[in-house]
Amino acid sequence: MHQISGDILHVDLSNNTSWREPITKNALLQFLGGRGISARVLWDLVKPGVDPLGPDNKLIFGAGLLSGTAAPSSGRTTVTCLSPATGLYLKSSAGGQWGAELKYAGVGNLVVHGRAEKPVYLWIDDDKVEFCDASQIWGLDVRQTNLSIQKELGDEEVQIAAIGPAGERLVRFAAVMFSVYHAAARGGVGAVMGSKNLKAIAVRGSGAMTPAKPTQFHETALKTRQSLLSDSGAEGLAYYGTPGSVEPINEMRVFPSYNFQRSSVDNAYPLTGQCLIEGGYLKRRVACFSCVIGCHRYTTVERGAFAGSYGGGPEYETLCAFGAGCGVLETEPVIKANELCNIYGMDTISTGSVIQWAMECYERGVLSQPDLDGLELHWGNGQAMVEMVKKIAFREGFGNILAEGVKRAAEHVGGDTYKWAIEAKGLEQSRVDTRSAKAYALAFAVNPRGPDHLHTETIAEFGMSPEARALIKKITGDEKYASPHLTEKRAEIVLWHEDCFALCDCLGFCCIVATALYGVTPQLMAKLFSTATGYDISEKAIMNAGRRIVTLEKCFNVRLGASRKDDTLPWRMMNEPSPDRPNAINSQEELDGMLDEYYSLHGWDKNTSWPTKATLIQLQLSNVAEELENKLEGGK
Ligand code: SF4
Repeated sequence: MHQISGDILHVDLSNNTSWREPITKNALLQFLGGRGISARVLWDLVKPGVDPLGPDNKLIFGAGLLSGTAAPSSGRTTVTCLSPATGLYLKSSAGGQWGAELKYAGVGNLVVHGRAEKPVYLWIDDDKVEFCDASQIWGLDVRQTNLSIQKELGDEEVQIAAIGPAGERLVRFAAVMFSVYHAAARGGVGAVMGSKNLKAIAVRGSGAMTPAKPTQFHETALKTRQSLLSDSGAEGLAYYGTPGSVEPINEMRVFPSYNFQRSSVDNAYPLTGQCLIEGGYLKRRVACFSCVIGCHRYTTVERGAFAGSYGGGPEYETLCAFGAGCGVLETEPVIKANELCNIYGMDTISTGSVIQWAMECYERGVLSQPDLDGLELHWGNGQAMVEMVKKIAFREGFGNILAEGVKRAAEHVGGDTYKWAIEAKGLEQSRVDTRSAKAYALAFAVNPRGPDHLHTETIAEFGMSPEARALIKKITGDEKYASPHLTEKRAEIVLWHEDCFALCDCLGFCCIVATALYGVTPQLMAKLFSTATGYDISEKAIMNAGRRIVTLEKCFNVRLGASRKDDTLPWRMMNEPSPDRPNAINSQEELDGMLDEYYSLHGWDKNTSWPTKATLIQLQLSNVAEELENKLEGGK
């Protein structure tokens, strides 16, 4: 029987040692679990000057506090480190079953130190930690790696987090793949794992998670489940998955296409959830641990050039990145590109993004067919797109340039190509056109890991459901602010979502069930935390803990030298409207106004964007304030 939080398990690959550290009551109340505890460990252990791909970077896995319990949709895991894409704070997250299994082994957070001399995989079997030789599986893709480890351990149910060839080759957007098809994809966590010569982490736990107040906990879990299932969007999400949102987002003209030159496509049907079903691609729906929605897809292609392709997904972001973004308005090449990203271990958003950029370079005559290893990378060429995915994963030819991410690729090619590189802070942007969604624009600009939806997104601003409009009213006082073209109240909307996303990542809840559906409320999360741990916390206090975590992550970047100038958006978002919405742009003036409000609500200095000393003390981050004291004083 394990404490609900589990321990922090440290493993040092440099000398094959491991040790456990309990998570204290104070740490739990301050940082809640999962992402929060990991952020604190990162702050303590990764100081400025560390090479993201060197042995001193830490790779920290954080299972949600409630992962392994009956709380619905609470099985997510975060991966935290210094990002090789941005050189800044990185938290990436994934679903699947791995986090719950880690909790059954009595571990809440796993901190990987050092670098193994030769490829290894970790085998965590309850209290036992083994450093196993991985020389035979180095080079295998993620599917083969899973099968091989399961065979070696004689356990088909063992849960595995693994990297593929992309992580081994330090592709800057390599992913860690959980349970084969669930990706902690963004920002290069897979490259950090590869830099440590760590091929995989296999986990088996036989313990149970016992809430401190079992009856009240299970009553609240049941209530949460009912609340979630009664959301007006629950049935549609379960039926169509995230691809179900392609059609409405395209109709609203915020669906990025042709490398964000446009905001819609003429025929989005092949990229929709409806098409996955009606075209016979969808074979089954898949749920993460304890999820009552089950939004994941499992698809196959049975005919045509990509026959034989199969796997988890594709999700909305992938359909947009490889489909509309590359002008490939066909289902099958997208399913194939998605499969390759899964098994090679790469982020579909960034992979699609670098290929779109290369396509635009090709269309504009900046890159030629010989530059691109003979590929005709024009809009809509699905075959060439799929070939380029392989080249990136194995760093072959021009794929080696693209494997560095779009910012570095544009620096390599030079000229005006930086204008077509849809990135900020070095991370490729997620697939929402921020020019027509102002809270998204602000959230993406201030996001510590770059312009991305899984750290903070603000779907509620579109007001697409009664629950979304009610949430906007709760945050701002008036439903009329559920309008993505307004700039008023965007700071309030972003702050609420930041806090809520932090809560979800700490407790293991999928952000979808709290911020796209709205059944898992902060109030229910506070009750679940209290009954699980036995430490009472109010809704206000738990949201405040979310704010503490967001602020600590900001401070991590401040300590690395980040400031207001880094809170920005891709050049195209700020300078070039789409013909689909000729008046929509994220001007510097507009962004500045929202940033001023945002910093002020946070209690951060408007000139520098740095949290003030008073704010840090109020959030009980005095030791962080002390360490940053010279910098914070200088910023005044
Ligand atoms: S809603 Fe989808 S992503 Fe979220 S936990 Fe459920 S299956 Fe996983």
